[in-house]
Amino acid sequence: MIQSFKQNYKLQVSYDAIIIGSGLGSLTTAALLSKEGKKVLVLEKHYTVGGFTHVFKRKGYEWDVGIHYIGEVQRPNSVIKRLFDYITNDKLEWADLGEVYDKIIIGDREYDFVKGVDNFKKKLVEYFPEESEAIEQYVSLVFESTKTAQKFYAEKAMPNLVSKILGSFWRNPFYKFSDKTTYEVLSSLTSNKELIMVLSGQYGDYGLTPKKSSFAMHAAVARHYFSGGSFPVGGSSKIAEYIDPIIENAGGTVLISADVKRVIIENNAATGVKMADGKIFNADLIISGAGYFTTFEKLVSPEIVENLGIKKQFQKVERSVSHACLYIGLDGNPDELKLPKTNYWVYPEGKDHDEIVENYIKDINAPFPVVYISFPSAKDPDWSNRYPSKSTIDIITLMPFDIFAEWEGTRWMKRGEKYDTIKENISQRLLEVLYKHQPQLRGKVAYYELSTPLTTQHFVNYEKGEIYGLDHSPSRFRQRFLQPRTPIKNFYLTGQDIVTAGVAAALFSGVLTASAITGKNIINKIMKKAFQKN
Ligand SMILES: Cc1cc2nc3c(=O)[nH]c(=O)nc-3n(C[C@H](O)[C@H](O)[C@H](O)COP(=O)(O)OP(=O)(O)OC[C@H]3O[C@@H](n4cnc5c(N)ncnc54)[C@H](O)[C@@H]3O)c2cc1C
Repeated sequence: MIQSFKQNYKLQVSYDAIIIGSGLGSLTTAALLSKEGKKVLVLEKHYTVGGFTHVFKRKGYEWDVGIHYIGEVQRPNSVIKRLFDYITNDKLEWADLGEVYDKIIIGDREYDFVKGVDNFKKKLVEYFPEESEAIEQYVSLVFESTKTAQKFYAEKAMPNLVSKILGSFWRNPFYKFSDKTTYEVLSSLTSNKELIMVLSGQYGDYGLTPKKSSFAMHAAVARHYFSGGSFPVGGSSKIAEYIDPIIENAGGTVLISADVKRVIIENNAATGVKMADGKIFNADLIISGAGYFTTFEKLVSPEIVENLGIKKQFQKVERSVSHACLYIGLDGNPDELKLPKTNYWVYPEGKDHDEIVENYIKDINAPFPVVYISFPSAKDPDWSNRYPSKSTIDIITLMPFDIFAEWEGTRWMKRGEKYDTIKENISQRLLEVLYKHQPQLRGKVAYYELSTPLTTQHFVNYEKGEIYGLDHSPSRFRQRFLQPRTPIKNFYLTGQDIVTAGVAAALFSGVLTASAITGKNIINKIMKKAFQKN
């Protein structure tokens, strides 16, 4: 059972491994190490477990924060499906979103992204008959890029010596794709501006516009969803719920409301952590899944960060953008309200995504550059068992941190009238976008609540409310320090920053970290086991 640190539960002071944060990277690492017989303590600052995969409840509704759809789990033999099976002891189930996983809307024009790569291509050619060659080439490049990604990421878990000898052969083919921006690649295939906007219509999944984002990131997301999207049955919280017993069976514990203040480092080796209340836990291994900046700006002493040259790395990576999310509760079940399972990506008219975002950053009263509408209650077949006659919707948009910076340091839910007024204005604007595309919902909204970048800062400890950790620019992928090992002995990283944003990427980060620690090829082991079972 997940326990609260504040309950002063009878704890041991020493573990094989301590993991800071309970995002999916951390939980995956914890599950894998537990299955290797290690006693693991997971320490989560928030009052609930899961990082961005947590859910929260209010006024009789429940919302998922950072899972709207996941690809590749529809295929029973996919690595992602096998990994999820392994870390949840086959308990986690997935519900398919159906034929259309994303709908890209630009002005009044709609483009469906349909499941299955051939269907995807065919549909796009129906929309853009003159562009069939460009579409074919685009899909090929997406596959080529993602193929090179496998070795690029695997190299991160290689022992240092092997990496010195073989590393560049495993990394270099990937750089051919990661060094280019999404726009560079797309505009080399077509001059059709609308097609470029449509193909990059999922840029919100990694938070960076086509002229700034790496094509490798774009390709990873596009490819991930070619086989459709799925949602965890019972909601995102099921992931942590199914992993927790695995940690406990190996003698470990997951603690919430457990705020780590410092990693204890002696003679350049991590030996434990100090909690906000002064309590100390010791372990042979310390792993941080709290994000690169949070780890080295807050959890490791500034002198060590300076002396090891880590501070110089700070200039080489940037924080991703921040967001606002309108969490909506409605009267009526998803069928009655005719809620789709498809995600809507709503864009205004404009030259391209980059220019639209730039205009909005200058004036946030300009049309929202992207409005992502997700209908989680319609995606989850178990929803109506838990919440009959209710439904939920999440609407996400880009929201510069600066808009809310003056309220930094104020208390959650008590930030004052001006703050609430800005929030209300944004909420109403987002609701109008919803009603434009789902007019039947006018009058059905029973509750809404807007999260701001300060909410993300407060609950998930990302200093500038970053939605996806580090930015996914071409130069990010050149940074060799974004890997499980750190210059500090027995101190490791996990989570989205060592791979990329995304639930599947966080899952892989856990595999990389556990592989680097144990020296085992964990993916091979899991895949072999899965085939033996069948
Ligand atoms: C709004 C939103 C929607 C998303 N939608 C999708 C989607 O549909 N599909 C998809 O694949 N991905 C999606 N993502 C991305 C995905 O959720 C994340 O990339 C992934 O979950 C990040 O996992 P992580 O392991 O890096 O840890 P995180 O989830 O970032 O968790 C880090 C944890 O560390 C904890 N922590 C920080 N400091 C401390 C401390 N000092 N002491 C203790 N604990 C600490 C934090 O509280 C947090 O719980 C979405 C993200 C967001 C924000």
